[in-house]
Amino acid sequence: MMKINLASFEDFGEFSFVLTNKDTSFEGIKFRDGFRADVSLTRDGESSVIVNGTMSGAIFMTCARCLEEYEHNVDTDFLVIYKKRLELTKEDEDNDVYGYDKNIIDLYEYVKENLILEQPLKPVCRRDCKGLCPVCGKNLNKENCNCEKNPKISVMNNMKIDIKTTKKQL
Ligand SMILES: [Zn+2]
Ligand SMILES: [Zn+2]
Repeated sequence: MMKINLASFEDFGEFSFVLTNKDTSFEGIKFRDGFRADVSLTRDGESSVIVNGTMSGAIFMTCARCLEEYEHNVDTDFLVIYKKRLELTKEDEDNDVYGYDKNIIDLYEYVKENLILEQPLKPVCRRDCKGLCPVCGKNLNKENCNCEKNPKISVMNNMKIDIKTTKKQL
């Protein structure tokens, strides 16, 4: 439920309320127990409404180093302007003003875009995650292994590959 009916508010003033989405899966994003948005609305003239608030929730992500699932906490402030769709100008669109129809502000699109941006591109479960052993695949956060890891050799291997691809291109 991310729809706000403006008809149920007075003309001016600030209104605060909580939107909750109990779905644990939202546009491919997995939540521990949904997320909440604390929203406050302020009318700005005849046709615009300023919506600001915070979004919070715990998203399940897969660590890029150790491949374990972990919880990434989202807690972000936002401010967005909605304007009657019929009165939206090109300039509004360039300024990321969203449109609304028939007194209903639907935060769905905005929330979705924001949550997608909130996901780290390279998620890591913790800053010092040791990742997986490149030789035996063990999770080095949980156990050690005796594999020989020689960083010098792997760097040299990478260099060889680079030279080959460069030659191919020529
Ligand atoms: Zn990790
Ligand atoms: Zn190993």
